[in-house]
Amino acid sequence: MNKYDVNKDGYYGEFGGAYIPEILYGCVENLKNNYLKVLNDPSFKQEFYQLLKDYVGRPSPLYLAKRLSEKYGCKIYLKREDLNHTGAHKINNAIGQILLAKRLGKTRIIAETGAGQHGVATATVCALMNLECIVYMGKTDVERQHINVQKMQMLGAKVCPVTSGNMTLKDATNEAIRDWCCNPSNTFYVIGSTVGPHPYPDMVARLQSVISEEIRNQLVEQEGRNYPDYLIACVGGGSNAAGTIYHYLGDERVKILLAEAGGKGIDSGLSAATIQLGKVGIIHGSRTLVIQSEDGQIEEPYSISAGLDYPGIGPIHANLAKTHRAEVLAINDDEAVEAAFELTRLEGIIPALESSHALGALAKHPFKPEDVVVLTVSGRGDKDMDTYIKAMNEKSNKIYY
Ligand SMILES: *Cc1c(COP(=O)(O)O)cnc(C)c1O
Repeated sequence: MNKYDVNKDGYYGEFGGAYIPEILYGCVENLKNNYLKVLNDPSFKQEFYQLLKDYVGRPSPLYLAKRLSEKYGCKIYLKREDLNHTGAHKINNAIGQILLAKRLGKTRIIAETGAGQHGVATATVCALMNLECIVYMGKTDVERQHINVQKMQMLGAKVCPVTSGNMTLKDATNEAIRDWCCNPSNTFYVIGSTVGPHPYPDMVARLQSVISEEIRNQLVEQEGRNYPDYLIACVGGGSNAAGTIYHYLGDERVKILLAEAGGKGIDSGLSAATIQLGKVGIIHGSRTLVIQSEDGQIEEPYSISAGLDYPGIGPIHANLAKTHRAEVLAINDDEAVEAAFELTRLEGIIPALESSHALGALAKHPFKPEDVVVLTVSGRGDKDMDTYIKAMNEKSNKIYY
């Protein structure tokens, strides 16, 4: 327990809480009263860790990136969540929540998805556990993330295109909440990030905290000490970052750098830099920073990365920024693409566009030669190939094959 953890009312400083419609009160209360009991239960832990090991392929390597280190003049380790089954960190959370749902006697799983990564992870675990799975996805995203839609369908999930609002992640989340309100008794809502009403942010952070648990052990082996000088991760809703920093929050020797999506620039009107641009408001059941207009209408965010263009931010991270426990950097589209090509050419690793924002932070902060930096590569770049090729062709008029 440290001062950055959630308090008994579900708040991180002034952020968090559970702002939910009356009809969901029972469900959320039930979850709140049971999640810690289940997560700490030895039989849950056994099943969870066994699947993380044999199904996901954990522990994910902590890789000393020598050429990248040379470039930035410090010692950079990459936490390789890109090597997980289904290609990102999302699977850790999906397995945990669905094991929990089964223990709470729920038979129907619903989820929201933006780029489709959380939808694919949820559909994957539902196939594994033979559960009904419904995924809400904005129609715009259905069209631009077609491969992930096909994967979810092949896995047996029903994908529901959402046609309200801008037809993206925010609208898909609204629709999933609507479904949950209609089916509170048999349905479990698997949220894909450290967002939503309490206890979701804390629950998701705990399920992803396996990332920092492993970092601790791997650093002892490779560095002879269990902490780094810096942790770096990208933040959309904040789950890979929360997992990366979880066991280090109370350790002030460890500096935290969070990379949010600057889009075309924070002053351009086309940005998803919620921590820098947001004002306090309520989104999807949580009091946090929200990108909103003067009169409180949620505004459509923009980022080249579909996984980062959410108009809110997890309450954990809003509080870390407010208390200056974390330093937040906005990384623009072109900086992220540049960083992706750099990692690819230096280390032979093609990162997800989201992760490329974390990599883009390396150029924005000074490091000393003895600094040990751990940067989480949250996912792999397979899904982003079209964007990478297009962005680079536009920039240089060169054709990359
Ligand atoms: C979804 C996603 C993210 C953003 O979500 P967080 O909850 O902020 O981690 C980042 N990277 C990848 C690869 C993703 O799929």
